[in-house]
Amino acid sequence: MIGFEQIVGQDAAIGSLLGAYRADRLPHGLIFAGPVGVGKATTAAAFAVLFLCEAAKDDRACGVCQSCVAMSAGSAGSGGSHPDYHVITKELARVYDKTGTSKATQLAINVVRYELAAPAARKTVLGRGKVFVVEEAELMTPAAQNAILKTLEEPWGRTLIILLTTDATALLATVRSRCQTIPFAALEKDVVIQELRRRGIKAATASAAAELCDGSLGLALRWIEDGVVESAGELNQCVDAALAGESGGDLADLLRTLADKQAQKTLERDDLASKDAATRDALAMYLSLAARQLRLRLAVSAGADQMEKICQAIDAVARAQQYLDANVNVALVLEQIGLALAASE
Ligand SMILES: [Zn+2]
Repeated sequence: MIGFEQIVGQDAAIGSLLGAYRADRLPHGLIFAGPVGVGKATTAAAFAVLFLCEAAKDDRACGVCQSCVAMSAGSAGSGGSHPDYHVITKELARVYDKTGTSKATQLAINVVRYELAAPAARKTVLGRGKVFVVEEAELMTPAAQNAILKTLEEPWGRTLIILLTTDATALLATVRSRCQTIPFAALEKDVVIQELRRRGIKAATASAAAELCDGSLGLALRWIEDGVVESAGELNQCVDAALAGESGGDLADLLRTLADKQAQKTLERDDLASKDAATRDALAMYLSLAARQLRLRLAVSAGADQMEKICQAIDAVARAQQYLDANVNVALVLEQIGLALAASE
């Protein structure tokens, strides 16, 4: 069963959550705001265990009641098979998309209506209460957000709606004002390393991953599993080579290879995912890693010439990121970055 002791580095967030719970001043709506992979979903699941437990003492779920057993059955992150625990993800969009072409990139009104508003208005199954967790809540369309306002105000009975988001400002002011926002911070690098080591990951890999992941344990774990940490090493070498005046086209080729490889991993995990979307996401990730390496080089650069060159490369990467955001196709984005780097040689 998921418990708070499994969450590292979020004492402040958990403290304010439990403080409100103990004082019985928990609103129906909570926003967990913070970077990807720092424990928002795990905290939501751990809190749901406590909230739904039939015999909780202080801050501890009993672990043996019908609710606790249901929460620990099946996959932990999804809240097992508890009938009053609902996790809403963008992937659910496919269930409601009759054309079968959904790319599952947003949470539309029909998903939110059927998966949240409707069950929130019904009685609980086990009787203790209901918990709804909306992952990537910033992907809710404005119509979808409007559709849950009423539920946030007065759901049926003891109900908790937890919106997880990397960007609370992307939520409507009307949604935010009905919820209590609990900030989740990025983790300290040492905390990430320690936690990776505790999970049996080698020291060198753990520190390389912690270096890249900006305080996100979830990203570090995912990147180790997908081989992104090693690929980032290869990418950094290629960035350095491009700065040293070797072919900038090589970097574009490597970005293509790495993005394709990563997209393949995504498709292995989710065979309904769109290949194009997966490739774009992967390319965006590697572009941000390339930008990171360039910023590091800029910080230690010596001489105006070298600095100028690094700045041109940073601009080229930034432009590629903008093109990607503007839905320019992947081949053109890569061609552009190759040309821009070659021109700066
Ligand atoms: Zn219990």
